[in-house]
Amino acid sequence: MLYIARGEELLRYSFGGGHPMNRSRLEAFYRALDESGVSYNVFKPVMANLEELLLFHDEDYVKFVQLASQRGYGYLDYGDTPAFPGVFDAASYVAGSTLGLVKLVLREECRGFNPMGGLHHAMSSKAGGFCVFNDPAIAINYLLEKERLRAVAYVDIDAHHGDGVYYEFEDDPRVIFFDIHQDGRTLYPGTGFKYEIGRGAGRGKKLNVPLPPGADDADFKVAFDEGLAFLEQHDFDFLLLQCGADGLMGDPLTRLEYSEASHRYAASALRRLAGEKCGGRLVAMGGGGYNPGNVARAWMEVVRALA
Ligand SMILES: [Zn+2]
Repeated sequence: MLYIARGEELLRYSFGGGHPMNRSRLEAFYRALDESGVSYNVFKPVMANLEELLLFHDEDYVKFVQLASQRGYGYLDYGDTPAFPGVFDAASYVAGSTLGLVKLVLREECRGFNPMGGLHHAMSSKAGGFCVFNDPAIAINYLLEKERLRAVAYVDIDAHHGDGVYYEFEDDPRVIFFDIHQDGRTLYPGTGFKYEIGRGAGRGKKLNVPLPPGADDADFKVAFDEGLAFLEQHDFDFLLLQCGADGLMGDPLTRLEYSEASHRYAASALRRLAGEKCGGRLVAMGGGGYNPGNVARAWMEVVRALA
């Protein structure tokens, strides 16, 4: 069974109609979900509490977001991520919902999808790239520190490099990291090069595969198969997937040219892999995607693969 986080609370994570990260993308997905007739369970959004936010974020940063949320204007970073009234609660619902799905998947045999999750650019002490709280990083620390899992696999197929997860866990051997993205020389955040394979004890536990602008489904498959072979070599107890839809052709922010077939391929393969490696425990997070039609198509393939 698949649980999908769904509710007005998640639509509140929206920077307004003039900003690429606005509610129309999530609305398009929920509409497609209703029209598809796919059967799933609704997971009602829950807020992360302070203790949960502090599993990853610094207290000063959490306070800064709280104040910016009360003030309701200005930026949370250098100019990509605006503050709005209630941004703290909205971001806490995103983080709490990913964490809630993770806890549910630990308890019962099911999979989870938080379409608003996957805010992979937020660092422990700062916002970035439309991301306020890094829900995958909070979930990873929960699994490692609270549940004492030995290792967690994090797979990221968003067009942008998952820098917030990569750099914060670069030297942690318990985080098996695989990320396909558009070459950092041509896209924000400008990182995720082939030579970035982890550091210290984490060396060899990370795989970054940058693709050039124009890369299509065939290129994706070659890169993804390299990642699958890498993941096969490691043991882990939980699998997280950030399935950003901004790599599909026609996204306004990127220059990759996948179709939703890439999402189908990735999600099906990872469901199989999770079955082999970690008792099927898998939670997916939506990530980016700024063409609402593409977002709906890509995530519906993820839903069909996990349902
Ligand atoms: Zn992205």
